[in-house]
Amino acid sequence: MRSELAAGLAERAAQGLYRRRRVLESPQGPVVRRDGREFLNFCGNDYLGLANHPEVVRAFALGAERWGAGGGASHLVCGHTAAHHALEEELAVFAGRERALLFSSGYMANLGVIAALTGRGDSVLEDKLNHASLIDGGLLSGARFSRYGHADVASLQEKLAGCGSRRKLVASDGVFSMDGDVAPLPQLAAAARSYGAWLMVDDAHGLGVLGANGGGSLEHLGLGQEDAPILMGTLGKAFGVCGAFVAGCEELIETLIQQARTYIYTTSLPPAVAEATRASLRLAQSEGWRREKLRALVRRFRAGAEALGLELMSSDTPIQPVLVGANEAAVAASERLAEAGVWVAAIRPPTVPAGTARLRVTLSAAHDEAQVDRLLDALAEALRP
Ligand code: PMP
Repeated sequence: MRSELAAGLAERAAQGLYRRRRVLESPQGPVVRRDGREFLNFCGNDYLGLANHPEVVRAFALGAERWGAGGGASHLVCGHTAAHHALEEELAVFAGRERALLFSSGYMANLGVIAALTGRGDSVLEDKLNHASLIDGGLLSGARFSRYGHADVASLQEKLAGCGSRRKLVASDGVFSMDGDVAPLPQLAAAARSYGAWLMVDDAHGLGVLGANGGGSLEHLGLGQEDAPILMGTLGKAFGVCGAFVAGCEELIETLIQQARTYIYTTSLPPAVAEATRASLRLAQSEGWRREKLRALVRRFRAGAEALGLELMSSDTPIQPVLVGANEAAVAASERLAEAGVWVAAIRPPTVPAGTARLRVTLSAAHDEAQVDRLLDALAEALRP
């Protein structure tokens, strides 16, 4: 076994595709420690700066004191506490839906929802740049699975026209995780409606960030439950903790409770996680200045990067990839940034299409202008030809 696996690993390394973890020695924040040094952190998803917020941390600690450390069982056995229940009710209000259901991660939510709602004879249609968990959910479901061109509504319509009369589910990221662009949701919703399909939006990177109240890409584009009846959101990004939820009508949520295997056959999140998330949800809603500050930092970064001639993507969100192209070049640039004390992850295939390796810069309301300027200086240096 060992030599066979070693050969596979060596091949991956030769292609510049070897993935390495870094050991963090500090909490999340704009400045983190690793390898005994401090780094400016521009690769996390803590968009609102809530992962280490004192009120959230305190709610977590008090939650652990009140509820203990673990969920103890699945939700359907004896793991569904009043803390989980209250968070679900608050998430439903936040999302403007009848109900919300907690999942232990976004990955599990996407797998569970798609496989619960569709099966053999049905069709699942997805944007080709959707997150891996949506893609995997489509493959796992056993439904006829097809991908349409990125944000390409005509390509979706063509595929919808070719589907039979059985159930059709269209799934899209709200904000694409590696490009940062917002999906053309009004057009996707119209296409889904005209073919009798259901639209599912994974707003992992939009919720908390986009929309005046942080309601995400749907609020940003003025859409609601009738447009996208299935909304998935994660709790480990803008909300700074972990887990995910699905929000929608009563019947959707009850169907998921009966049929979503990643909901039924897994231990509930620790109740303290639910308490911490209740605190961060309150902050995310009440402190609109975090979204405004983030938007201003995004504008500052884009203006600076454009002035430097860096190749940006068409994104107004905190995900601001800088295109590099070759895998090795992206890794080398990330290493040069690290030497300058700036941490930006290099993203390579298969996470992104071949030839589009990039530095995935992410901004947070916890950053300040001077830190964004330091990032720009370091990028100019690291990408100098
Ligand atoms: N959907 C999208 C668009 C994501 O970016 C991610 C996380 N990278 C997920 C789902 C999975 O969420 P989680 O990390 O909670 O499993």
